[in-house]
Amino acid sequence: MATIAVLGTGVMGAPMARNLARAGHEVRAWNRSLEKAQALRDDGVDARDDPGAAANGADVVMTMLADADAVLDVARKAGLAEGQIWWQASTIGIEGIEQCAPFAQETGAVLVDAPVLGTRLPAEEGKLVILASGPDDALDTLQPIFDAVGMRTLRLGAAGTATRLKLAVNLWVLVVTQGAAETIAFAQSLGVDPAWVLEALEGGTLDLPYFRMKSKLMLDEDFPASFALAMAAKDARLVAEAAERHGADLPVARAVAERFTQATDAGHGDEDMAATYRLSKPS
Ligand code: NAP
Repeated sequence: MATIAVLGTGVMGAPMARNLARAGHEVRAWNRSLEKAQALRDDGVDARDDPGAAANGADVVMTMLADADAVLDVARKAGLAEGQIWWQASTIGIEGIEQCAPFAQETGAVLVDAPVLGTRLPAEEGKLVILASGPDDALDTLQPIFDAVGMRTLRLGAAGTATRLKLAVNLWVLVVTQGAAETIAFAQSLGVDPAWVLEALEGGTLDLPYFRMKSKLMLDEDFPASFALAMAAKDARLVAEAAERHGADLPVARAVAERFTQATDAGHGDEDMAATYRLSKPS
């Protein structure tokens, strides 16, 4: 069993830390708002007061933080050590992971770029999909750790590859969410019951469980965050930036980035990304 430092115990990091402890690993956790890490004590997680105290002597340091700036700042404070595996699990984009690589090299830590697919519930149930890229021996070491939080691991080659795949998959998630919001709002504006839209699609190839799940939040106008709008806006911007850098013309991605940023600025950043509906619903 390994000693794992979990840096960042938000929506995703907290249930991941819990599942790692349940699987018998020694888990130390740190979070900027310390009470979120301390809340894990009853689950057998050892809450530490600073990133260094969590990371010191750990076999694996996992970062599960908001964005690239937070990841780099916290990783520096953690003082990664020679031979330690740094599991970078946050969604930080291509430039973000490119900034992590030289930092890991300076410290002698082994960078594993392994963001995850799945939101709050799959994280709680240990059913995430791990997109793993990095050196083979580090991925071998991490496999039982991935198994404690995920139902499937994709091994994708060199670090940086998983972050690229994560952006591609997230584009799909973001576009479906915005599409669901506009479909519901459009039907309402036409005086068409949105339930009929779902009924019309039922059983066909476009009957996505994800559309049903997100449209329920929209119809209830209740948006407990599984994937916060502010995080989704950040991801949409990462997709749009990467597309521009790599020569793909993605007008819908740009529009979603702009819309999610607008919804965040309007004060909905802590709600689930389905709250983008608030901006589209007919007045
Ligand atoms: P979250 O609940 O908002 O947690 C964000 C974490 O980052 C918190 O621990 C927060 O600390 C910390 N943080 C933010 N800014 C910081 C800073 N400047 N310095 C130190 N710590 C900072 O978000 P989440 O949903 O767990 O997401 C974490 C990462 O996973 C993100 O990159 C997200 O895109 C990605 N992700 C999310 C999902 C999802 O569905 N939720 C799925 C896959 C991947 P405080 O608690 O003090 O604010």
